[in-house]
Amino acid sequence: MRLLRFDGGRVGVVMGDLVYDVTDAAGVDPKGWPPVGMVQLVADFASRRGALLAAAASGEGLPLERVEIETPIPWPNKLVAFPANYHAHAEEMGSDYRASSRGFFLKSASSLSGAGQPIVLPEPLGREIHHEGELAIVIGRRGRHVPRARALEHIFGYACLLDITVRGLEVERTMRKSYDSFTPLGPWITTADEVGDPAALRLRLWVGDELRQDANTRDLVLDVPGMIEMAASVLTLEPGDVIATGTPDGVGPIVAGDRVSVEIERVGRMTVGVVQGEGGSNLALPPVALA
Ligand code: MN
Repeated sequence: MRLLRFDGGRVGVVMGDLVYDVTDAAGVDPKGWPPVGMVQLVADFASRRGALLAAAASGEGLPLERVEIETPIPWPNKLVAFPANYHAHAEEMGSDYRASSRGFFLKSASSLSGAGQPIVLPEPLGREIHHEGELAIVIGRRGRHVPRARALEHIFGYACLLDITVRGLEVERTMRKSYDSFTPLGPWITTADEVGDPAALRLRLWVGDELRQDANTRDLVLDVPGMIEMAASVLTLEPGDVIATGTPDGVGPIVAGDRVSVEIERVGRMTVGVVQGEGGSNLALPPVALA
């Protein structure tokens, strides 16, 4: 199933080029705050699945291009991210470490945005701001100390993710990666049963028509079960938690006016624009990237 969030917190099931509004069957209040309806739906999915399919089957589809697509998970408990998780990308960044030895970091969950919303660049910093196309894991079942043999049982589904990053040598990544709109996620969540083996997914990213990244998840340093095992060795993974699995080589700058597309085999394809925002420049990220 492909689960979409759109038009002010509504929930949809995507079939072909159409979205079927299943908000009521999902038990989600689009106006509810905090917006945890999708987290609750992910947690309760087994008991809601039949009602979602029935609602989609009896509804009238809306063309996808007529709705505003929002992030499928706006308020996860955690947004976990793995750095240096493809050898070729670690080499292009000059990193002498890998995710398997350095572990994960956290991005602000408020950096999540959807396919219908642009990446908003901070005011000029004199820094490059890069795209990182990544496979996102959405957790479906709570877990702590999850052995790798059981890890896939904790996955609800997958989505495309952009880990937008201000380049710089600050060792602490959180601030450089946590601007609002710096984590487009979507365009929908494809449930794990439709994706199959997460270790054999081609991932491509374009800026405009230019192919910048082209890789396969078989080349992950720390694989999908390994990431879940490592994260859950530290913290309790909750339904709706998002894990950004790391980017392959080919990262590069984005500027206002660009359109960035990321496509992952059997998961989906998401295209987002890039615009110049106001504000966001600050003393902690000076134009010269300090070590
Ligand atoms: Mn990344």
